[in-house]
Amino acid sequence: MKFLFWFVCAAAQAQQYDILLKGGHVIDAANSIDAPRDVAIKGTVIARVAPNIPAAQGKKVIDAAGLYVVPGLIDLHFHAYGYSGSIFPDDTALIAGTTTVVDAGGAGYRTFDDFQKKIIGVARTRVLALLNIAGNGMTGRASEDNVEDMLPDKTAAVIRAHRGTIVGIKVAHFGKPGWDALKRAVEAGRLAEVPVMVDDKIFTNAGRTSREKLLDVMRPGDMHTHMYNDRQVEIVSRFDGKVLDFATEARRRGVLFDMGHGGGSFLWPVAMHATRQGFYPDTISTDLHQSSILMQQSDMPNCMSKMMYLGMPLREAVRRSTMTPAKNIGKLPEIGTLGEGRTADIAVLALRSGVFALKDSWGKKVLAEKKLEAVLTIRDGRLVFDSEGRGYPDWKSAGDYEVLP
Ligand SMILES: [Zn+2]
Repeated sequence: MKFLFWFVCAAAQAQQYDILLKGGHVIDAANSIDAPRDVAIKGTVIARVAPNIPAAQGKKVIDAAGLYVVPGLIDLHFHAYGYSGSIFPDDTALIAGTTTVVDAGGAGYRTFDDFQKKIIGVARTRVLALLNIAGNGMTGRASEDNVEDMLPDKTAAVIRAHRGTIVGIKVAHFGKPGWDALKRAVEAGRLAEVPVMVDDKIFTNAGRTSREKLLDVMRPGDMHTHMYNDRQVEIVSRFDGKVLDFATEARRRGVLFDMGHGGGSFLWPVAMHATRQGFYPDTISTDLHQSSILMQQSDMPNCMSKMMYLGMPLREAVRRSTMTPAKNIGKLPEIGTLGEGRTADIAVLALRSGVFALKDSWGKKVLAEKKLEAVLTIRDGRLVFDSEGRGYPDWKSAGDYEVLP
């Protein structure tokens, strides 16, 4: 009996980790790891990342052989509130390996509390926010064109009161001519010391040009989303497909470019011209909403697969979906890395081989031979998605069933 007691205690001590991901290939740009590693989790944090951590040290040992183990994906442009096509984050994020979504302007300074109560506070997915410069957020013309209710002081005050959750400002869909909305957003960004994400049209009747926007109005660290459409920003010439000098110059001065796929903003011709000339996104994001998840399936692994089809190496696609977005919103190393001691937000991905249709926002497809797929997701130390049952024991060996043999 005494011996049994000792044995049980020793075994419990040996099983010092709650979850052990074994045999996977870790890509963690923040720690310069792109190699086979085991990842051990204790409670809600990553306890150890090392080669060959003994299986006996894990209470739950998950075979990750043949898979990529990366920081939980960060979707920098998502719609969880306010916008008419918003989706509850847990419905689409965790099954895609996405552990953090950044809501892009659903709420403004008047509605942020409601957003926090109804979505941020109840989702299992980590939800961060870019606060809309429009007081009532992304709720249509009455709000998004109402310059009188774009108040930098009040917007900055709400950001200061919610530093951990609000990570920047969004300006979007401004339908009037001129720069009022963007300039007020930038002013709020200056007051609160956060970046601005920009999404507005450059049609002639708007009186806005890409050149002026990127070189004169946006600051280094501000982000232009929807970079591969041709209406919100123009990075390749319509006449010869060349990357425009001012786009290169904007990038040189520190303006950031975000994919922001969505239902109208990732177009194969623009993306192909741009990437052939080396103009890739700083950050990969989905702009996910109700129609784009159904028609384009443009979740994070899908968007990453598209960039890989266009020549981006896997490790870069991972970096631009984890470390870089975290850095751009001031959240590195809190998220976006598998560093020891950090929150255990982890995506396990498979790189499938076959023939896959990858559709752009206007429904045009290419056939790719590789596609990333989320297999397993850990959020805050908990296994929350496991498409292949890798974290589950075989039922015959589990011994939990008492009624049937
Ligand atoms: Zn959007």
